[in-house]
Amino acid sequence: MVETNWAGSHTYRSRIERVRSVEHLQEVVAAAPRVRALGSRHSFTDLTDITDVDDGVLVSLDDLPTRVDVDPSTRTARVTGRAAYGDVATALQAEGWALGNLASLPHISVAGAVATGTHGSGIGNGSLATAVASLDLVGPDGELRTVGRGDTDFGGSVVALGALGVVTSVTLDVEPTYDVRQEVRTGLSWETLASGLDAVIGSAYSVSLFTRWGDAGIDQVWLKSRGDEAPPRPFGAPAATTLHMFADGDTEAVTVQGGVPGPWLDRLPHFRMAFTPSRGEELQSEYLLPREHALTAIERMRGLRERLAPVLQVSELRTVVADDLWLSGSYGHDVVAVHFTWSRDQERVYAVLPAIEAALLPLGARPHWGKCFVAGVAELEPLYPRMADFRALRDRVDPDRVFGNTFLERVIG
Ligand SMILES: Cc1cc2nc3c(=O)[nH]c(=O)nc-3n(C[C@H](O)[C@H](O)[C@H](O)COP(=O)(O)OP(=O)(O)OC[C@H]3O[C@@H](n4cnc5c(N)ncnc54)[C@H](O)[C@@H]3O)c2cc1C
Repeated sequence: MVETNWAGSHTYRSRIERVRSVEHLQEVVAAAPRVRALGSRHSFTDLTDITDVDDGVLVSLDDLPTRVDVDPSTRTARVTGRAAYGDVATALQAEGWALGNLASLPHISVAGAVATGTHGSGIGNGSLATAVASLDLVGPDGELRTVGRGDTDFGGSVVALGALGVVTSVTLDVEPTYDVRQEVRTGLSWETLASGLDAVIGSAYSVSLFTRWGDAGIDQVWLKSRGDEAPPRPFGAPAATTLHMFADGDTEAVTVQGGVPGPWLDRLPHFRMAFTPSRGEELQSEYLLPREHALTAIERMRGLRERLAPVLQVSELRTVVADDLWLSGSYGHDVVAVHFTWSRDQERVYAVLPAIEAALLPLGARPHWGKCFVAGVAELEPLYPRMADFRALRDRVDPDRVFGNTFLERVIG
C-alpha cells in the first residue's frame, strides 16, 4: 500500500511498522539499522522518511492508546507522544485544565509538533515546544530515557527533528481552563499596520493576519482574546459573518467567530477537529524572523507579490516569543512568522522559494522545519547559534545515526 504524508506531497519510501506497545517499540528500534518516528504526518517534505537505504523502518505509534495524566501539584500533564493535540485538549478540559496555546489545527501529534518547533501566535506566547517540561524517548539502543528541564541536554532535545530518539510521552505545562473569544476584522491597510504594528499584533492574546500581499493590505485579522474584556480595536471593521481565510473555504471547518466566548480548545485553533484543516490540497512554507524586521519583511514580500500570486493561496503573519531551545525558530528572540499556504504544485512552489529566501534569510529568517524550504546547512548554520551544540549532542546520543536521514544531512550536516 502506498503511504503518503497528509498533503500527499511525499510518498514514504521506507517500510512502516505499527508498534503495539512501548516495549515493542524498544525492540524494533534496537533491531533496526535506521529508524524514524512518524507523527500524524502533517509535515510537507521528506523530513520524516528514510530514502537512502532499503532497510530503514518508520515507526508508527498510532496503535498506542492515548493517555493524559494531570498532576495538579506540578501543573503538568504527561501525555502520549502520538496523541493529537485535539484529543489531549479534550481530556484536559474535562478535568478543568488547559494548555497555553495551540497551533492552527488540532489534528497534529504532540511529539511531531514539538519536534519541528510548531507554534500558534501571540506576543506573550512561546512555541508549543516551550510548554514541554520533559520527554520520555527511546534511544538508538532501545533504552527509554527521560530528559527534563534543568538537564544540560534539554535545550537540544525538544525541537530535535526526531534525530535523538522516538518520543513516547511528553510532559506539558498546564493551567486552569479558560475561555477565549474569537473575532475577525477585515480591511487593515498597510499604512495602518506600518504605523501601529505593535498595537495590532498585541491587540489580543493571539493574533493572525491573513494577506495576499496586494494593495488591499491585510484581508483578515483573526483575534483570539482571553477573558471577558473587549479591548479596543482601532483598525479594520468587524466581519459581518463567519469567514474562512480562503475566499471559497468551507466556513463549517473554522472555529467559532463573532466574539462568542467558549472553551480555549474550541477557539485557539483556526480549524475544528472534525473537519479537514486549511485547504487539504496544499503545500506550506514559513519563515520566522526577528520581530524588529517585520515591516522590512512585509515590504520585501509585497515586492515579490506578482511572482508569488500564481501559486499562493494565502499568507499569514503570526508572532512567537523567544525561547532557549537550540533549533527553535524563535531561539533567542521574539519573532514574526511569515507563512505561505501554496497550491499543491511542487515545481512552481520550489521555483519561488529561492527568491523568498534571498529576501528573508538576510533578515535572520529561519525556515519552519516541517514545511517546504530550500536552504541547506551552509545557509542555516549562521542562523542557529547552537547548531554546533546540537551536532555534539547528536554525536553523543546517536553516534551511528540510527535516527539519521537525508533531510538531516542536508540541513544539519
Ligand atoms: C494543515 C496544516 C496546518 C499546519 N499549521 C501549523 C501551525 O499552525 N503552526 C505551525 O507551526 N505548524 C503548522 N503546521 C506544520 C506542522 O505542525 C508540523 O509539520 C508538525 O511537525 C507536524 O507534526 P506531525 O505529528 O504531523 O509530525 P510528522 O509530520 O509525522 O513528523 C514531523 C517530525 O517529527 C518527528 N516525530 C514525529 N513523531 C515523533 C516521535 N514520537 N518521536 C520523535 N520524533 C517524532 C518526525 O520524525 C519528523 O521529524 C501545519 C501543517 C498542516 C498540514
